[in-house]
Amino acid sequence: MRLLIMGAPGAGKGTQASRIAARYDIPAISTGSIFRDNLANGTELGLKVKAIMDAGELVSDEITDAIVADRLDQDDAAHGWLLDGYPRNLHQVSALDEVLDETGTTIDAVLSLLVDEDAVVERLLKRAEIEGRSDDNEATIRNRMQVYAAETEPLLETYRDRGLLVEVDGMGQVDDVTEAIVEALDDFLAED
Ligand code: AMP
Repeated sequence: MRLLIMGAPGAGKGTQASRIAARYDIPAISTGSIFRDNLANGTELGLKVKAIMDAGELVSDEITDAIVADRLDQDDAAHGWLLDGYPRNLHQVSALDEVLDETGTTIDAVLSLLVDEDAVVERLLKRAEIEGRSDDNEATIRNRMQVYAAETEPLLETYRDRGLLVEVDGMGQVDDVTEAIVEALDDFLAED
């Protein structure tokens, strides 16, 4: 099973991604987490992306595409994966298409978590207090929202046109959202 999960920053993608991935026994691969791990470990990559992440901008496609291609090539991803936070613009959609073409694989579904923007800004500010993420201050959050609206949200139409989009209300309790995702996904996959 090969899945994407999309949604505005703070939509709860990471939490849901882990749960859905566990259910389908596939790795959840989050580009944001990969970058954050590199930041925390002070790697060369971490140093390179820190300022970009702190500003709420997107890391270059060159860096991001290479990281994803490399990660998808690892053994645990041979039979499926759930990508969280990638692709984030049209260029990355094409880069992912190339990886899929090379491996003769396809995406099974694209999950879209629908949320209310004001509510997620509040959610992110709360997370900032708890997790202390350096890209969770208000200015960065607002910028991440803008970058999402300008660059990433249009991808939903791309995947809708491909008949892959599965939309789920992301505003409820975490367990309820997980249940709604699983139900919507199982229904969608049964249609094929
Ligand atoms: P996330 O945890 O998915 O919200 O990602 C946190 C930050 O990592 C983003 O604000 C970007 O700076 C960077 N990032 C994550 N995924 C990507 C991507 N696909 N392309 C470019 N930058 C990304």
